Amino acid sequence: MADTEQYRDSVSTIDKEGKRVWVFPKKPKGNLYRWRTAVSVFLLAILFGTPFVKINGQPLLLLNIIERKFVIFGMPFWPQDFYIFMVATITIVVFVVLFTVVFGRLWCGWACPQTIFMEMIFRKIEYLIEGNAAAQRKLNAAPMSAEKFFKKALKHGIFFALSVLLSNIFLAYIIGIEDLKELITSSPAEHLTGFLVMLLFSAAFYWVYAFFREQICTMVCPYGRLQGVLLDKKTIVVAYDFLRGEPRKKGKKTEGAGDCVDCNMCVDVCPTGIDIRNGTQLECVNCTACIDACNGVMDKVKRPRGLIRYDSYEGIQKGTKLSFSARIMGYSAILLILLTALILLFTNRSALDATVLRTPGVLFQELPDGRLSNLYNIKVVNKTFDEKPLELQMISPKGEIEIIGGELTAPPGSLCESSFFIKLDKKDVPFRVTPVVFVVKSGGIILEEIKSSFLGPARQKGR
Ligand code: SF4
Ligand code: SF4
Repeated sequence: MADTEQYRDSVSTIDKEGKRVWVFPKKPKGNLYRWRTAVSVFLLAILFGTPFVKINGQPLLLLNIIERKFVIFGMPFWPQDFYIFMVATITIVVFVVLFTVVFGRLWCGWACPQTIFMEMIFRKIEYLIEGNAAAQRKLNAAPMSAEKFFKKALKHGIFFALSVLLSNIFLAYIIGIEDLKELITSSPAEHLTGFLVMLLFSAAFYWVYAFFREQICTMVCPYGRLQGVLLDKKTIVVAYDFLRGEPRKKGKKTEGAGDCVDCNMCVDVCPTGIDIRNGTQLECVNCTACIDACNGVMDKVKRPRGLIRYDSYEGIQKGTKLSFSARIMGYSAILLILLTALILLFTNRSALDATVLRTPGVLFQELPDGRLSNLYNIKVVNKTFDEKPLELQMISPKGEIEIIGGELTAPPGSLCESSFFIKLDKKDVPFRVTPVVFVVKSGGIILEEIKSSFLGPARQKGR
């Protein structure tokens, strides 16, 4: 059977000669755009405010990959907590996959920093300075004049200043707000590396938002590239109701014509330059601008809204309404289980990690009072920001622990090492290798129970 469908084999913003097609989207307006603006303001407030928030004097979030120091919700995490990061990474991957299979690119349209920065900050400034799409097109085509120079210089000046601000915010998440303040208030010569990193970040942001723009979503973003394998006919996406809309016809509705009046408004507002009427495409970031545009048109021609809407291919084809199906419930349950497991791991994570090994190459010693002793090495990682005085206490069998040096204190956020003797009565050491249990305590609270072994003379048949 002949394939009558039309396919593109290149992205919408590159022409046949391989040159960039610059997109001049019309300023969107409508309910969803207003909601997206409100959500963006909320998310931007979180992004800009988080580095300033402290919990018990510690940052809410610090991701210092350079010094391998991480603080999440005021709790320090060390390389020893790597397993939590592994579980978190797996959860995020599973979350992203499951979420996308069900809800498509909801993330891209509503929460992705790239979309928020581009559409809600940089694009809005562009509209303010250069006007709407037609005025921008005209300005770009016009020869250089005082007006054009002023508008372009103003726009790019503001874009660069905003890029510097964004790079500083991202740096605050890496080095912390105090170090950032110091970096900003002192001479660049004193922090040349930090200053150069900040400049590099700023230049990258500026280049992305002034020039590269939607190409990030279509060519660079790995999540965007994954859509082809994650979406299926049941996935909820921004979709054109081809059953209702086709055959499209300009002007008054005639017999057999669909609801689409072929006004091209949905294409004009699209920031990635596509026509959603051709079906789900790689470039669509689900920004909902075409939904708003089409709803506006439908209001004018007095036809029901929702010719372009959130729906699945199957939903449009079979006319079924969007519902919380068993599939969505199942996926949501899996996500809930994973998130619960992650929260439990986070909250039950130990504040101190103790490792105890019997000192290699040393056998038991017989003490003058007749007891037996074994020497052990202890390493304790203190993951808190407080100094922790430690005690060791025998649980079984009854016996004595003598720390060499008398005291054991774990300094904040570091590793302490020491050695200690376990002293047991001979009657409690019936085997060559006797199991022993003791606890590591701090402030009277048991931090960890340690199971180890005690070497004795082979007086009885041992293990
Ligand atoms: S905005 Fe609506 S009516 Fe206009 S072309 Fe697009 S789908 Fe058709
Ligand atoms: S097709 Fe619609 S939802 Fe997709 S990017 Fe374009 S305007 Fe946004």
